[in-house]
Amino acid sequence: MKLKTVNAILEHALMGCDISPAEGVVLLKQTDQEAIAAIRTTADRLRNRQVGDTVTYVINRNINFTNICEQHCSFCAFRRDDGDTGAYWLDWAQILEKATDGVQRGATEICMQGGLNPQAQINGKTLPYYLKLVATIKEEFPQLHLHAFSPQEVQFIARIDGLEYADVIMALRDAGVGSMPGTAAEVLDDTVRRVLCPEKIDTATWLEIVSTAHQLGLHTTSTMLSGHIETPEQQIAHLEKLRSLQKTAIHQGYPAQITEFILLPFVGQEAPKPLRRRVGRDQPVLTDALLLSAVARIFLGNWIPNHQPSWVKLGLECATEALVWGCNDIGGTLMEEHITTMAGAVGGTCMEVETLQTAIASLGRPYQQRDTLYQVMAEK
Ligand code: SF4
Repeated sequence: MKLKTVNAILEHALMGCDISPAEGVVLLKQTDQEAIAAIRTTADRLRNRQVGDTVTYVINRNINFTNICEQHCSFCAFRRDDGDTGAYWLDWAQILEKATDGVQRGATEICMQGGLNPQAQINGKTLPYYLKLVATIKEEFPQLHLHAFSPQEVQFIARIDGLEYADVIMALRDAGVGSMPGTAAEVLDDTVRRVLCPEKIDTATWLEIVSTAHQLGLHTTSTMLSGHIETPEQQIAHLEKLRSLQKTAIHQGYPAQITEFILLPFVGQEAPKPLRRRVGRDQPVLTDALLLSAVARIFLGNWIPNHQPSWVKLGLECATEALVWGCNDIGGTLMEEHITTMAGAVGGTCMEVETLQTAIASLGRPYQQRDTLYQVMAEK
């Protein structure tokens, strides 16, 4: 594809138009450095126009309450069977201790997700266990925003207890969940999912659960696990599904929407061998992640304005670089991270606020603390 065609697509985007999936694929397939530089510049200009220059961050604490999981995703180094070396399941006191630590360190958000542990029940039911997870934190810290439970966890609860997705989401929302991570999306293509996560919910179910959350007033994030077996066409089809999900939420006037897009490049170092061998490398390819970040901004930015790179997957230096490829948010402090770290990521598990601020300032851009839903936090 000639540069002229790329320029025509970029001009179209700069006029405020949505680019088509076919145009998105053209951008993603560029190898010419001049064309890639033009894509980066366009993404950066759109980022500036759509959300300004300020880079945001959130002070949050991760709690991964168990790694015991009934499923066997081919990229997952986190899961264990009960009784395996390294298997863990936090008790209520440990969960409260971690939340308390988060509050003492200034967290406004607890991000809570875990493995699909069939034993996680109260009186033979799964939903009450999850409601107690919520209550354990919210009764002690009602001010904390609880960003919790992926669409896969919602389906797990509904399946085990024989409930509708809406019933599960309403119960979690009413108990105090403030928003839902848009994880477990991986790549929203069932041929890819059959290799990556054959036991997980399929594409249609992921979209249904996220849309149901929006209709019930729970905001969600959105994610994409990139850089493994998927093609540029499948990457763009994934972005197109997210864009159309967000358009539906906006056009239908749903009370909640997608708050951000987070790119999660695949880390394979400790992944199960078959996928690791097939992908053939252990750490993400930075140039691919940056180009995809830029194309995601160009493709989604009119509808999903906030874009976040993953410093856990990429390392802080590379995540900072992504801030000039269309991203406007550096994510959270996390304080503790297991899922990607157990996969062999080199980014670390915790960031001090000052470290994030210094990284942002190195670009000459202002920084600002935000809450989970992108409301600006007042200076203390
Ligand atoms: S990615 Fe999640 S669902 Fe899949 S095996 Fe790991 S913990 Fe289980």
